[in-house]
Order: sequence, then structure tokens, then C-alpha cells
Amino acid sequence: MQNQNHSFKRRDFLKKTALSVGAFVGAPAFSLLGNYAQNAFPEEKKLGVALVGLGTYATTKLAPAFEHTTYCRLAGVVTGTPTKEKEWMDKYGIPKANVYNYENFDQIADNPDIDIVYVVLPNSMHGDYVIRAARAGKHVICEKPFDVSVKKAAAAVEACEKAGVLLQIGYRCRYDPYHQELMRIGREKPLGDIKLIRSEMSFYGVHGSNWRYTDRNLAGGGALMDVGIYAIQGARYATGMEPISVSANSFRTFPNKMDGMEETIVFTLEFPGDIAATLCSSYAARNDYIEVSAEQGNYGLKPSYGYAPAQGFIRNEKMDFPHYNQQAVQMDAFAKNILEGSPVIANGEMGVQDMRIIEAIYKSAKKGGKQVRV
Ligand code: NAD
Repeated sequence: MQNQNHSFKRRDFLKKTALSVGAFVGAPAFSLLGNYAQNAFPEEKKLGVALVGLGTYATTKLAPAFEHTTYCRLAGVVTGTPTKEKEWMDKYGIPKANVYNYENFDQIADNPDIDIVYVVLPNSMHGDYVIRAARAGKHVICEKPFDVSVKKAAAAVEACEKAGVLLQIGYRCRYDPYHQELMRIGREKPLGDIKLIRSEMSFYGVHGSNWRYTDRNLAGGGALMDVGIYAIQGARYATGMEPISVSANSFRTFPNKMDGMEETIVFTLEFPGDIAATLCSSYAARNDYIEVSAEQGNYGLKPSYGYAPAQGFIRNEKMDFPHYNQQAVQMDAFAKNILEGSPVIANGEMGVQDMRIIEAIYKSAKKGGKQVRV
């Protein structure tokens, strides 16, 4: 992901879309930066974010992304590892008063320097921490997947509604111009109706020791729960519709690995209008793309969902949009939602719906591929 200055990128983006709009490639509705160029927004008005769980994603992607945010700043951390406390305080200038552990986390309610809690823990811990953050009166960002069941995710949405706080799920692609272009084409249909979608998000992790590959209770599932969810999201925003039914088959090519979890899964989502999305996900292969077949041609992204900058095509034209730091744009969009009282794009219900689809997919796989209604 390129890290670039937003004000420059926005000018560049506007210029590019004005100059290079071809017959099909359009300009996504992308105005997240509002009236402020980067750094022009007063420092004291930036919303303070506390990261909960200082693992790989928080350390390598989220914390560095604050260099590129306009409306929020890294203000605190919640960690169970005492050695990380000093490390993060020194590196990011975080005051001791803004450092919590999992036991005293609820005291964050009394800290006016923290506006947003960002939950970056293993999957099955998400909902509980969203609920704790909401009860502390903080707005919440929760990493994908929302949790490991519809029930737990819905309870977290309810807690946020009850507390009157906003909730965003960390679907960073939703805020990216390339993915927004898929949404636009799906909406405006310059190539006619969509008929088929193919998409895969896979990486080679099957031999890893992380909870993802070894602990079903924390992960809630295998490749589907972790990265297949990107393909589900892709099919949902490319069509702008919700699937009616699913069918799925899952298997393991390394039978001694990933006990009780799917290593590889192939599944079809059926959308209204006889649109079929054939999707897959694996921890024993590498791929990352979405391709949409419409009546008059095809288009898509490859790479699509991963950290490499997306590349897109529509028929034989290349898409040409800037590459933003997705994590920064996602967090800034949420901060703007809070500041302006505007609706959250990647909201809690969107996360609950993915849980519904995932539960239906697992049900189908258990029944040997039988079609299951969502
Ligand atoms: P990780 O294993 O690297 O980090 C998890 C953190 O949780 C660690 O700091 C660990 O110490 C802490 N933790 C607290 N209690 C724990 C417990 N009981 N067991 C295990 N760890 C515990 O994982 P990660 O790759 O950073 O993923 C964290 C979350 O972020 C996941 O839900 C994942 O799906 C999501 N994620 C999202 C993206 C994205 O692009 N949006 C990318 C990577 C990860």
C-alpha cells in the first residue's frame, strides 16, 4: 500500500478522473477528505483512537497508518503484554494514562482523550470487546470478521445502539477507489447486467502456528472466516445486492493441519436476478482477485483485496485511480462520521450480514454442498 500525502493525492485523483475518463472507467463517489487537506485539521480536534490488541495488523498496518490520517490520531493502546507498553509509549508518544490492559480496560470510560476504541483481537474476542467499549461510551471500530456468529455480532450491534455510539467494521476495501469503481459499474451497468462473478482470496498459511490455523475457538473457522470474507464482501458490493442462497464444499489438502477448520473452501452465492458468484478461499494456495462477467464484457481487480495496491480493468482498459493508505482512509472516514453525525459505510449490520452468509456457507458445506437459504 502506498503511503502518500492526501492533499496531493486528492488533487491528483481529481485531475486524473477529469483527464482519463474513458468510455467505461468512471469516477467513484470518493470525497472522504472534505474541506480539510491533510494536517490542516486542528490537532486538538483530531479524535483519539486506542488500539486493542497489538498483534501483527495493529503493529504493521494500523499504527503506521496514523501518519496519513487527517481526522484521528493514535492516542492509546490496550495490551496484555507489559513489555509492549513502554515500547509503544516511546515509539508513538503515548502517555502512560492512555495505556490499558485487558483487566483495567473498562476504566477507559473515564478517559476523555480516547474517542474511538479499535478492536484488533482474535476473531471470537471481537464482540465482547465491542460491547465493553460501547459500555464505556466509546465509538468502536471492530476488525473483520465481526465475530464468529450472528448471535454474538448482533449482540454487539445492540450494545452500540443502546450506548449511542457509532460502530464500523474494518472493511478497508469499501473505502478504496478501485473497489468503489466496482460498486459504480454494478450500479450504472455500462456493460449491461451482471451475470457471473468469480473471486478468490487465498494465502499460504496452513503450516503457521498463529491462532488462525490452530485454535478453532479463537478463529471461529478457517480460510473463509479470515479471508474468504473479502470475496463475500466483493460479491456483495459488486452487485449491490444480498445473496438469497449459498452452496459450499470445504476440504483439507493437509489432513493433519487446521483441526476442525476448513483449509480450502469453494462456494457459490446466488443473488436475485439469477446472478451467481463462484468464490473460493484457501490457506494452501495464493490468489487475490475479483472478476465480473456482464452481458457486454468483463471487468475486475487483480490484485484485489490484499495489501498490494489494487489493479483494475474494465474490458481492455486499465483503471487508473490513486492508491491511498486504506487503513488511514477507513479510520478517517469513521472519524468524519463521528464529527459530522453522518452514516457509517461499513456499519455493524453489514458485518452481521456477513456472519449470516458465513453461517449458511458452513451449513451447506456440512451437508455436502446442499443449497441453503441465507
Ligand atoms: P495477531 O495474532 O497478530 O494479533 C492478535 C493480538 O491479540 C496479539 O497481540 C495477541 O497478544 C492479542 N491477544 C489477546 N488475547 C489473546 C488470546 N486470548 N489469544 C491470542 N491472542 C490474544 O492477529 P492479527 O493478524 O493482528 O489479527 C487480528 C485481527 O485483525 C483479526 O480479527 C484479523 O481478522 C484482523 N485483520 C484484519 C486485516 C485487514 O486487512 N482488515 C488484516 C489482518 C488482520
